[in-house]
Amino acid sequence: MKAIRGATTVSCDTPEQIKEAVKELLNGIVKANNLEHGQIICIMFSNTGDLKSFYPAKAAREAGFASCALYSSLEPEIDGALEKCIRVMMLVDGDFVPEHVYLNEAKNLRKDITSVLNVAVDGPAGSGKSTVCKKVAESLGILYLDTGAMYRALALKCVRENGDYADKDAVKHITNKLNLKVEYKDGKQITLLDGEDVSDQIRTPQVSLLASYVSAYSFVRTKMVALQREIAQKTSCILDGRDIGTNVLPKCKFKFYLTASPEVRAKRRYEEDKLKGSKQTLEEVLKEINERDFQDKNRAVAPLKQASDAVVIDTSEMSIDAVVNEIIGKIHEKI
Ligand code: C5P
Repeated sequence: MKAIRGATTVSCDTPEQIKEAVKELLNGIVKANNLEHGQIICIMFSNTGDLKSFYPAKAAREAGFASCALYSSLEPEIDGALEKCIRVMMLVDGDFVPEHVYLNEAKNLRKDITSVLNVAVDGPAGSGKSTVCKKVAESLGILYLDTGAMYRALALKCVRENGDYADKDAVKHITNKLNLKVEYKDGKQITLLDGEDVSDQIRTPQVSLLASYVSAYSFVRTKMVALQREIAQKTSCILDGRDIGTNVLPKCKFKFYLTASPEVRAKRRYEEDKLKGSKQTLEEVLKEINERDFQDKNRAVAPLKQASDAVVIDTSEMSIDAVVNEIIGKIHEKI
């Protein structure tokens, strides 16, 4: 079940305006979330005390929301509150990232979601970026864009075409014809290579290392960064990678740099991969992490480094939830 929020305002307290505003708000929520009416369990309204001419719940009934439970209540009077405002909470069956809808003057209530919100998270392999970003994305109701998956997809394509990563022209050729798409299913990123879902196949140690090599080519970065910026411009999302705060979105208001000692990161990766059936030893994982760190930090184009305005979080001794809470706290402080 998901909870979807929304709000709107009217300019005059008349039944006509309230009916119209409720209809626009509910239909907006249905459209933004691609809902069937049958999925809606209940709709709860609250309105400010300056609206007395019509119940929002009755307006919802008249707007065709007939089969779900409806409820209206009055908000407490708070000094400085938005006037003539109707707020809604819709409970819906399904598993997806909810799209909240704020209209008219109510847009000012949630500047974080009525304008595109981007959060940049950088850091070395194993610093906890992907686990943390998935949770922050879920909590903020935004998407998680795993930019490493894009470099990994190119690396996989090189493996499939027997391309030598050291042969610049061969990698360029593969990059130019790369058919890469990122889609979302139930809020989860799906990486499509030539139309095929390769989300699992790009997670092997071979692909990890190769991704680190091919991502050092400037023509590769130009292509990937353009794709990442295009997505970030249109969509509220948290992006993780190596150069998000420094290169992809240098003007981003919310930047974080996660780090941890190589030993801690190797241990995490080792435990994670072991669960997936990997036979690599801890020493091998540590060697790979050190190799990737060296590659990522020392390449000429957009190397891994913390942006000067990023909040640095050393996750070595922190739980995942503690890191998530710190990031969300800092975002709310600045919004
Ligand atoms: O984050 P992940 O381990 O999936 O990334 C795989 C590789 O892709 C990294 O080692 C890095 O070399 C490269 N990468 C990058 N820039 C990004 C994301 C990943 O260079 N924004």
